[in-house]
Amino acid sequence: MTQSKTDTALEHIVSLCKRRGFIFPNSQLYGGLQGAYDFGPMGVELKRNLISTWWRDVVYRRTRMFGLDSSILTHQKTLKYSGHAETFCDLMTDCRQCKSRWRVDHLDPDNPRCENCGSDDLTEPKPFNLMFKTNLGAVTSEASSAYLRPETAQGIFTNFKFITDTQPAKLPFGVAQVGKAFRNEITPRHFIFRVREFEQMEIEFFVDPEESDQWHKYWVEERLQWWVAQGLSAENIQCEAQTGDELAHYARATTDILYKFPHGFEELEGIANRTDYDLAVHSKSQDTLSPQSKVSENPDSTTRLAIQHTETKNWQIPFVIEPSAGVERGILALLTEAYHEETLDNGNKRTVLKLAPHLAPIKVAIIPLAKNKPELITLAESIQHELQADIDGPVVIENSGNIGKNYRRHDEVGTPVCITVDFDSLETTTSDANLINTVTLRDRDTLKQARIHKHDLLTYLQQNYFNYRYKPKSFNQ
Ligand code: ATP
Repeated sequence: MTQSKTDTALEHIVSLCKRRGFIFPNSQLYGGLQGAYDFGPMGVELKRNLISTWWRDVVYRRTRMFGLDSSILTHQKTLKYSGHAETFCDLMTDCRQCKSRWRVDHLDPDNPRCENCGSDDLTEPKPFNLMFKTNLGAVTSEASSAYLRPETAQGIFTNFKFITDTQPAKLPFGVAQVGKAFRNEITPRHFIFRVREFEQMEIEFFVDPEESDQWHKYWVEERLQWWVAQGLSAENIQCEAQTGDELAHYARATTDILYKFPHGFEELEGIANRTDYDLAVHSKSQDTLSPQSKVSENPDSTTRLAIQHTETKNWQIPFVIEPSAGVERGILALLTEAYHEETLDNGNKRTVLKLAPHLAPIKVAIIPLAKNKPELITLAESIQHELQADIDGPVVIENSGNIGKNYRRHDEVGTPVCITVDFDSLETTTSDANLINTVTLRDRDTLKQARIHKHDLLTYLQQNYFNYRYKPKSFNQ
């Protein structure tokens, strides 16, 4: 078998995603909605697996982590005081020749030209706010306006008091949230890399201001290891510390985890030290600010967002470390890494998605070797019934097309193992006693086949495929 893993072109991934039911362009029958994609039957499984693995590893595998699900509709004052209403902007420019619109920082800084027609006849850059504004209720007015959240983080800050009042929250502790965020990107592009509606997996980890640098380092290392555990190879990942103008005005430090996407190394996740900025701007009382604080009074807030120091009993606003990852970018990175084209020994070609088994949309496919043979289908169903009780994800019966087609389909959706049942698997028909009740397992990556007794199947699969483990570094080390 010849392996081919040169840089994968984006169009191959896009085509596979459409062909096999991972990701569809939204509203294509009306010409498409730019910057919006829908996840099909395979895509939704991959997405749910990524999110639930993140949640398990971030929330359940750690102490002092709490979950939250705050609303997408966001109060205008939340985004006024967070600074988004005024500063959550990108600079845009229009091409006077072909009328296309560009984000200034995406153009060559030394020789800015329209990426569409090549013209340098561009308008003066002007700021464009990325938030989607909407209206609550029947009357449209400034007073009734609200926003679709541009990040999940603000919901964590505005719920800070509810969380600390109701949970055993002592520094350091974290709040995790997964959910939709919306940005009216000037130029959505690179498939699901830059879209207008996407999901974030965010942690706000509250720490003593004195310890914020060490916790920032902790989370950069942890998040890097986690992406490697999901199957991204270390050589395709880089860490980049933001400097100068790149750094948000409230951040003390930000490190981006970059992945080698088909269009180059770009941000997959950002880990920011947001200082006490967010809690301070939403807090009614400013008397608890740390000396580093750069915020002014908030006359609209009714609540003090601070925590009492366990020993001194003084109120303090903690610093916050924010690891913020995009689900869509995570999925694009996983697909890029997993996509392989191979030439088999018989000269045939195959495309295969080498996804980690815990992320694969379908866990096991059971294929009756002969179609329309009731005894084989009954056996396949009994194996499916047994496995499905213990395997976390779909175990399917594939009884359409020929075996080659079935394998091709499951290679392309990343099913880690196929099980074929044949007449030898049936007690009544085989002439070879060793084969009674055995089935054939075909490994997606090596194509090796093994004959296994059906009673040993579950243990074999759990030991060899569904054995994902992630052990985070403890907060106390
Ligand atoms: P970029 O510089 O690429 O626009 P950002 O620095 O503005 O991204 P953050 O505000 O740090 O992004 O958001 C956290 C994460 O959310 C990013 O690392 C990314 O994975 C994801 N994300 C942000 N914007 C988008 C988008 N338009 N489409 C898809 N994912 C996004």
